[in-house]
Amino acid sequence: MNLERERQTEKLKNELITNVSHDLRTPLTSILGYLRLLRDQRVEDQEQQREYIRIAYEKSEHMKGLVEDLFEYTSLSNRGVPLNKQTVCMNELLGQIVEAYVPLAEENQLTFHKELPEERLYAAVDPEKFVRVMENLFGNAIKYCVKPGEIGVWLKREGQGIELTVTNKGEDIPPDQLARIFERFYRVEGSRSLRTGGAGLGLAIVKSIVELQGGAIRAESREGVISFHIWLPSP
Ligand code: ADP
Repeated sequence: MNLERERQTEKLKNELITNVSHDLRTPLTSILGYLRLLRDQRVEDQEQQREYIRIAYEKSEHMKGLVEDLFEYTSLSNRGVPLNKQTVCMNELLGQIVEAYVPLAEENQLTFHKELPEERLYAAVDPEKFVRVMENLFGNAIKYCVKPGEIGVWLKREGQGIELTVTNKGEDIPPDQLARIFERFYRVEGSRSLRTGGAGLGLAIVKSIVELQGGAIRAESREGVISFHIWLPSP
């Protein structure tokens, strides 16, 4: 039994390494290509030089994002992640995170529509980890939302906890694909474009964190609106 589990873990690890190596190689090849052109001074003018530097820089940032995702994911998959659970006022925390994302959203022709209740709602979460969840969800909403457009953020009491919903417009995701978007490395058909290309780890990280805090997450796609519903237990 243990042997079987070890074999499975080993298989997953190999898969992780293969996928990540592949995702890192693409931007790295392009960075090396542009740096080589610059090193050999094969540029027509200063403007072209600036453009090559800009692309190399953008690709490096993209690689940094992939490495951070990978690091976060592997540390979450190791058992015994220390959780610093606290009683957090979700209205406040959510309000702050949304504020921080307003400039990036505006740059992308997006606005936030937020509906937080008057009543203060509390959840028992590790605030730092929760921020990571929201960063991934808002990051995705900004990447995948139809522009110009709106990102919806809703908070309400639900059972013995709270429910938080993030919505954006986008192409409907067919049910068979929707069921898989929380899997590691899963990306919906057509998302593997260079501009948006993540590693497909973002939602896997979100799900691990939410479940570690005793919560649950599900996604819906209806009439061109994609919504993520997170439930978290109250203290
Ligand atoms: P990544 O963004 O790196 O591809 P994720 O795990 O964050 O990986 O997301 C998996 C897939 O789910 C994405 O490739 C995208 O197709 C789809 N997706 C995630 N969030 C959204 C969203 N807010 N709107 C539309 N599609 C989304």
